[in-house]
Amino acid sequence: MSVDRAETLDCLRDLIKTPSINPDLNPQEGGNEAAVARYAVEWLRGHGITAWTEEVTPGRPNLVAELGGPGPVGLVLAGHLDTVGVVGMTVPPFEPTLEGTRVYGRGAYDMKGGVAAFMEAAAVLGRRGSLSGKVRLALLMDEEYRSLGADHYVAHHPEGTACIIAEPTELAVVPVHKGFQWVEVITHGRQAHGSLWEVGESAIAKMGPVIQALDVFDRTVLRTRTYPGLSAESLHAAVIEGGRGISTYAVECRLEVERRTLPGEDPSAVYEELASLVREAAPDADVRLLFQRFPLQTPEDSRLVRTLVSAGERHLSEPLTLRGAPHWADTAVFSQAGIPAVEFGCRGEGAHAEVEWVDLDSVLAVAAMAVDTAEALDREPVQGSL
Ligand SMILES: [Zn+2]
Repeated sequence: MSVDRAETLDCLRDLIKTPSINPDLNPQEGGNEAAVARYAVEWLRGHGITAWTEEVTPGRPNLVAELGGPGPVGLVLAGHLDTVGVVGMTVPPFEPTLEGTRVYGRGAYDMKGGVAAFMEAAAVLGRRGSLSGKVRLALLMDEEYRSLGADHYVAHHPEGTACIIAEPTELAVVPVHKGFQWVEVITHGRQAHGSLWEVGESAIAKMGPVIQALDVFDRTVLRTRTYPGLSAESLHAAVIEGGRGISTYAVECRLEVERRTLPGEDPSAVYEELASLVREAAPDADVRLLFQRFPLQTPEDSRLVRTLVSAGERHLSEPLTLRGAPHWADTAVFSQAGIPAVEFGCRGEGAHAEVEWVDLDSVLAVAAMAVDTAEALDREPVQGSL
């Protein structure tokens, strides 16, 4: 009753065959996560596991599954159902092929390989019937765009002592990653005919010192602030718009700034620091926090990480490595909701690229290690924080 190679490969192939392009990212390509969620529900039910969908936005569901005994929820195995688009791909996106141990297709690596691994792990745990508490499977929509699926899941299912998200990490455990803040700056001018310099004032010219101040701050201050395993803090002027025509003084200029944050930074201090720089450079500018996501900071000596490392000793030829990730991921949503989380997933290549493949052996290893970790955490439920 261990991981079944043929069963896992079949499942992975079916997942790739069922397109699930995020419609907000690529509206022109059509479709969404519904069909692949339906497939996964049927597959899990066919393996005796209670599974259902939960609609997050019209027609776009999460999939939740649960198995085990009457005890509380232990490990949550999570992944995302959506993929990026397929325009420009040079391998067939939805006709998976197996070459050696590589399975090709859109989403194979990011992250239907990880989803297949966790579905197989659920099937194995179901067959064994070894759990006294519960294991949940959370297969989420919209990770590639706004993470609405993760937000919806933790709002409705805050239970769980630990979470693994099978983002493709090359079989490394990622316990820390960065967060981000999106900030809007608006400067105001005075609209006038382009010939009337006595009246007109350009909002765009007023934005100049703001951009300059932020750029200097980025290069001289933020790059000196670091965190183990991660690159330095940073910000950049990402989007700018303003002006109505070449013969008119610009009445408004709008800038969007992205600031990438490190674990341990106080989010309100991060915002205030940026806002005060802007106000110094342009005293009458409006500054507003548009959106933010927090960094991930799961301790390396946490029970979850230690359990995964010891599972690695049984299933991998090399010791499991730990590393930080520069990007933001759904892991932080779980962590913020009180479920300590790490990323841990397959080997391969080509997330968001023309050629995408996942290494089948790594899919099987992730499945086996998820089974081991679920059972270990179930045997010795975590006391207090991980
Ligand atoms: Zn992903």
